Amino acid sequence: MSLLYEITLKHPHKHLFSVTLTLNNPNPLGQIFKLPNWIPGSYLIRDFSKNIVSICANSEGQEVPISKIDKNHWITQPCESSVTIVYEVYAFDLSVRSAYFTNERAFFNGTSVFLLPLGFEHDECELVINLPSEGQVLGDWQCATTLKPKTKNSDHEIFTAENYNDLIDHPVEMADFTLFEFEANNTKHKMAITGMHNTDLSRLRTDLISVCEHHMNFFGGEIPFDSYLFLTLVRAKGYGGLEHKKSTSLICSRSDLPFNGMPSITPEYTRFLALCSHEYFHAWWIKTIKPASFHRLDFDHENYTEQLWIFEGFTSYYDELSLLRSKILTPEQYLTLFSQTVTKVQKTKGRLKQSITESSFDAWTKFYQQDENAPNSIVSYYSKGALLAFVLDIEIMMRTKDEISMDDVVRHIWNNYKDDGLDDDSVKRVIEDLTRTDFSKFFDAYVYGVDELPIKESFNYVGVDCRFKHKDTDLSSFGISAKDENGYSSVTHVFDDTSAQLSGIYVGDLVVSVDKVKVGFKDLQSVIGTKTIGDTITLGIIRDEMVYDIRVNFVESDKTYCVLSIEDTQKKKSETLYRQKKWFYR
Ligand SMILES: [Zn+2]
Repeated sequence: MSLLYEITLKHPHKHLFSVTLTLNNPNPLGQIFKLPNWIPGSYLIRDFSKNIVSICANSEGQEVPISKIDKNHWITQPCESSVTIVYEVYAFDLSVRSAYFTNERAFFNGTSVFLLPLGFEHDECELVINLPSEGQVLGDWQCATTLKPKTKNSDHEIFTAENYNDLIDHPVEMADFTLFEFEANNTKHKMAITGMHNTDLSRLRTDLISVCEHHMNFFGGEIPFDSYLFLTLVRAKGYGGLEHKKSTSLICSRSDLPFNGMPSITPEYTRFLALCSHEYFHAWWIKTIKPASFHRLDFDHENYTEQLWIFEGFTSYYDELSLLRSKILTPEQYLTLFSQTVTKVQKTKGRLKQSITESSFDAWTKFYQQDENAPNSIVSYYSKGALLAFVLDIEIMMRTKDEISMDDVVRHIWNNYKDDGLDDDSVKRVIEDLTRTDFSKFFDAYVYGVDELPIKESFNYVGVDCRFKHKDTDLSSFGISAKDENGYSSVTHVFDDTSAQLSGIYVGDLVVSVDKVKVGFKDLQSVIGTKTIGDTITLGIIRDEMVYDIRVNFVESDKTYCVLSIEDTQKKKSETLYRQKKWFYR
């Protein structure tokens, strides 16, 4: 055991962790330490090292000079025996990606708090977590993590990890949380819920068992963990999740959790279950099967891959489909959910400019750094990836007379690509091998190209009617999205080739009147929604504290709002019914 970490919850009100790292056999020429610049699963350089507020080193009680090489590397002067680094980390980020410490809760990802001594990447790690002293924090704190426990005492717990990469893949939550357990296919699962909540735990447990057993069975019963932990933080408003091999960190809104007496499934609770389903699916699909390049991560720089549409897109397809297949949703409820994904994609003109492989590759600078022009210039590898997974699923069914589906493709990859990971063309090759047909044109058009996906045709194949219309409850047909600013509409996005853009409305404009009559945020949609092609109006806007009149001519807009419905069974051929059933419940 050569890497010994110790983390102490130092000042809840200063949000400081104190960390020590002791190394018995440092590099005799001077030991370099580094902190990752990003966290796997979230593709943005976040420079976690900016939160290290002090650092010093000693060797057997004698101070050893330590200096900085660049933003995330430090070097100690040569010392003959062991070296200990002592540093403080500021932790006040509520997201699932970093670290947080107040008197209500402590949470950290290893990428935010644990320095790696270069050359010791493969050494075993031991971690001592010193629990807060009495009176330091609110409530009776417990510690939840999937790190391997070694010993547990009243004031500290000790865990071990196989190596550094293992150490940083187990987030740790400490708080006075609700903890419940359940078994899915004889495997132990836990969920810790931190924050004020009034959850119907029995309902949540039942639904989670259904989701977990679905995924386990989907991958043929082979499970990439010995136990699994859901860490859930409840806030008044919040949403997010990050996958790990044996656990996931989630943030949800209080209204997302099921409450006692909830009559039927709500859209909010559906969203939460889909999030759990999504992150849990990742245990197989990106934490185990992954792009070949992810087998050796470089924590200093962006790790580029064309494949996020495969890992996030397929996961987004199955996270909701599994809720239907495990009978948590009815087909109608599922189609309503899926229609929202279709609408999201079709509202984005960027789908005609950026392919989903480009979207994956540029995640670091585009998807994770979206500006006001994002809807016009980029496409989401999540939502378009999910839609493409569906279209591909149907195409595979069509070509194989419904013998083979996307499920078989994913399972084949699961059974054969754990060791080496996927190359950029692996999915195409697997599909071609399984279907014995050429998918070059399909991939050129829809994966590497930006052709419109054959959405209607795909849905028709499984007896689902797909229509597009104008949505009359938002401003997308007019060509903007807006937020409430002091009761008026502040323009946040202007969509390409719409009435709004052609008339010269810009992001940041505050719309205050229509045809000289004052119109507030709540009423703008209903006033503009009555206009049709050829109508003209004068919008009063404020830009940089100046008042302008803008003449708007209404032009035709795209129908992007998707409505999915199950076609009348009377008219359907039995083979369509068979296919529909197979898609819904296979
Ligand atoms: Zn994901």
